[in-house]
Amino acid sequence: PYVIAAPCVADYSCVEVCPAQCIAPLPDDAAFDRAEQLFIDPDRCIDCEACVAACPVGAIHEASRLPEQWTHYRELNAAHFRRK
Ligand code: SF4
Repeated sequence: PYVIAAPCVADYSCVEVCPAQCIAPLPDDAAFDRAEQLFIDPDRCIDCEACVAACPVGAIHEASRLPEQWTHYRELNAAHFRRK
C-alpha cells in the first residue's frame, strides 16, 4: 500500500483522486475533518499511484520505499484505521 508521511498539508488533493476512497477523512469520519495529516487505509489501497501525482508536497510513498526518517508513518497510517 501507499503511505502518507510527514510533509502532508491535508489539502485533500489525494482524497479527490483516490478511486478506492481509502484516504481519511472518509465521509463517516467527521472527527478528522480538521486534521492536518491524512492517512491511507493499507487494507483498501489498490496501489494505483494516483495520489502520488496529486500530492503537492511529495508526502506519499509506497510503503517499502518510504524515506528512512518516515518509515514509522507506515504504522501510523495503519493504526488510524484500527482505532475505529
Ligand atoms: Fe488511493 Fe491509489 Fe493512493 Fe492507494 S495508491 S491511496 S488506491 S490513490
